[in-house]
Amino acid sequence: MTGATQNLNIVPFVSVDHMMKLVLKVGVTTFLTELAAVIEEDFRRWESFDKTPRIASHSAEGVIELMPTSDGTLYGFKYVNGHPKNMREGRQTVTAFGVLADVGNGYPMLLSEMTILTALRTAATSAVAAKYLARKDARTMAIIGNGAQSEFQALAFKALLGIDTLRLYDLDPAATEKCRRNLEGLGFTITACNSAEEAVEGADIITTVTADKQCATILTDNMAGPGVHINAVGGDCPGKTELHRDILLRSDIFVEYPPQTRIEGEIQQLPQDHPVTELWQVILGQVPGRRNQGQITLFDSVGFATEDFSALRYVRTKLAETGLFAELDLLADPDEPRDLFGMLLRCQAATAL
Ligand code: NAD
Repeated sequence: MTGATQNLNIVPFVSVDHMMKLVLKVGVTTFLTELAAVIEEDFRRWESFDKTPRIASHSAEGVIELMPTSDGTLYGFKYVNGHPKNMREGRQTVTAFGVLADVGNGYPMLLSEMTILTALRTAATSAVAAKYLARKDARTMAIIGNGAQSEFQALAFKALLGIDTLRLYDLDPAATEKCRRNLEGLGFTITACNSAEEAVEGADIITTVTADKQCATILTDNMAGPGVHINAVGGDCPGKTELHRDILLRSDIFVEYPPQTRIEGEIQQLPQDHPVTELWQVILGQVPGRRNQGQITLFDSVGFATEDFSALRYVRTKLAETGLFAELDLLADPDEPRDLFGMLLRCQAATAL
């Protein structure tokens, strides 16, 4: 969608239904691959973004967060929650929506569902990180936590790294069975495992994507062997981690935005000055990623605002060609900008209210 064709007062709205159709029309693999390229492109221009740790409102049950950023031309934010108990009540742990706006006039240019888009962007970001951090010969991935995010992770790692063998584990065997069934026929050899220990056997990459509002120990120190890449996705809030601290001490740790990850990531378990490497520097080639076959690399993913910005930016490029959006009457538009009240009066006259 271009500025020239868009009526500035009508905001394109991508509903859940539109998003599903968009992803299916583009193809999940192509969507993940193209989205990963946009995320990577934006990491390459990291310094042009206005960055701040997300604004989190914590409660006993979960968290509601706002994630804003801007590149000076576009502004974006995401509203997202994280409520691990939701799943047991038949709701999503994570739901989200987001807005992209024109910095020049402040007008929103896109309003989109972002529950599905978050799963896609989280998986795409993990796969981009792993492209630089995992061993090149990695083909087997363990996924611990087989909930809403899990299939997206599997498919992004297949698309970007060629992962074709999965070892699945979840506390709830029904989640593992759901994940196995959903990925059937998509080119994976899948083993359902009875424990996290069994799942990591022979895995080149370990993805932890569990949801629990506590400092859990999904991986103990003995479970991370030499050369493994750990993609730690589920620990993304203060007091919510997945890895035993000793693993962190043996790993080279890569993060999105240190001021946010030090609050929310696995590294909240470590002193504030523990060395970490920023992913954008690896992508730009300023700092090496994996240096040898025996190194343990850890992507301490928490999800950063630029990734959502990239995702919204990518979705916006698909709107004109697919028409998969509704037109939202979101912005008041009086003929004379200062006559906002007059517009109300004219509406009253026209509708006899
Ligand atoms: P979900 O509730 O759909 O699935 C979580 C799964 O983890 C459930 O099937 C549950 O049974 C399982 N689980 C919980 N404790 C476990 C344990 N000890 N061992 C094995 N399995 C266990 O949640 P989801 O939407 O898939 O999200 C998973 C996690 O990822 C959440 O914590 C969420 O906050 C996080 N997340 C992070 C990012 C990011 O960018 N880093 C993005 C989205 C979600």
